[in-house]
Amino acid sequence: MSELDCIFCKIARGEAPATVVNRADGLIAIEDIAPKADVHLLVIPERHLESFREISALGETEAKRMLDFVADTARVAGLEDYRLSIFTGASVGQTVFHLHWHVLGSRVRSPL
Ligand code: AMP
Ligand code: ZN
Repeated sequence: MSELDCIFCKIARGEAPATVVNRADGLIAIEDIAPKADVHLLVIPERHLESFREISALGETEAKRMLDFVADTARVAGLEDYRLSIFTGASVGQTVFHLHWHVLGSRVRSPL
């Protein structure tokens, strides 16, 4: 899958529609198009990595920024408790081959 026809790259470039709930340098958080919880968000680094397997391609600063952004996204979405998951590989359910975190939970307060 090249970056040209990757759906998450297209969303990050503004070439495909999405409901963006958080954005920071090199990172984007959107609503999942087929939510599996009250709140189901996807955190996506703009840089195209096929999966979590390639995580070492991110530098320490970039990786830490991504972790902070996941926590910040849950907070701004009004989530106190939440579940994070990353499917790595088709056999465990990965369908979009661009690294993304699922953030799932129930809203306990209005988004900030
Ligand atoms: P995964 O199984 O981890 O690869 O999950 C891919 C997720 O992306 C699924 O939960 C889909 O519902 C979601 N998804 C696919 N296309 C879009 C899209 N265009 N906008 C928002 N979410 C999407
Ligand atoms: Zn991509």
